Amino acid sequence: MKRTNFHSHTTRCLHASGSDEAYVLAAIKGGYSELGFSDHSPWPYEDGFVSGIRMPLSQYQDYLDSAHALQAKYRGQINLRVGLEAEYYPQHHGWLTEQKDSGALDYVILGSHFDAPEEPLYFGGNLNRQGLYRYAKHTIRGMETGLFCALAHPELFMVSLNSFDADCEHISRDLIQAAKALNMPLEYNLSGLYPMSWRTGLGYPLPQFWQMVAEDGAAAIIGLDAHNPERYADTQVYDKAAKDLADLGIKRLESLPCLNQKQAETA
Ligand SMILES: [Zn+2]
Ligand SMILES: [Zn+2]
Repeated sequence: MKRTNFHSHTTRCLHASGSDEAYVLAAIKGGYSELGFSDHSPWPYEDGFVSGIRMPLSQYQDYLDSAHALQAKYRGQINLRVGLEAEYYPQHHGWLTEQKDSGALDYVILGSHFDAPEEPLYFGGNLNRQGLYRYAKHTIRGMETGLFCALAHPELFMVSLNSFDADCEHISRDLIQAAKALNMPLEYNLSGLYPMSWRTGLGYPLPQFWQMVAEDGAAAIIGLDAHNPERYADTQVYDKAAKDLADLGIKRLESLPCLNQKQAETA
């Protein structure tokens, strides 16, 4: 069983715990061959907006430096990657593209929690019909930009809903079809398997959604969405997820399809 994870946070996002090195050591101990840091992206806010759930831009260089230092220190023991989990914010898309093109980042994953930097509507809230379709449209537009290597927790729009209805099915199918057409893996996010007080609805991974992924033949990648190093110790949860995907007949990718190859060769 090959264990890899490209969805891992750091304390810079203000809602995670543990040193950067603690994550790496926990991953090595858990038998992971590859770990990608993907902290919540900072943004160059122009209006003084301060996010309480993301890395401030002032921490970004330190984030890169720390990850690259660990990459060198643990080379041969674990393959470390440096990425971001980012929103699709059209007004900041140029900035994000520059970061990727600069070579400092190996990858970016799409975590579609909001559609505007001021965060007017949380896609994991109990959305009305309009909100559900707003998530679908915005998220698929982001996927189509070509910047993102995977879609994190695709079922976020249903996390607080009570039932999987025809609209959920419609939107799920659109997301899955987009992922398939773009060769973008959908993340089988394991953080939803842990109890969290704010998760009151369907949650994720959602069986109805993954049944459709199996039917449509899109690919999956397992993500821990680790906000603490202890997640890496829970290898039983990881291995069960891999088995569940295999039992469903879903192709599981062990690595991201669009990693920066220059880094891969030297790692
Ligand atoms: Zn987070
Ligand atoms: Zn995350």
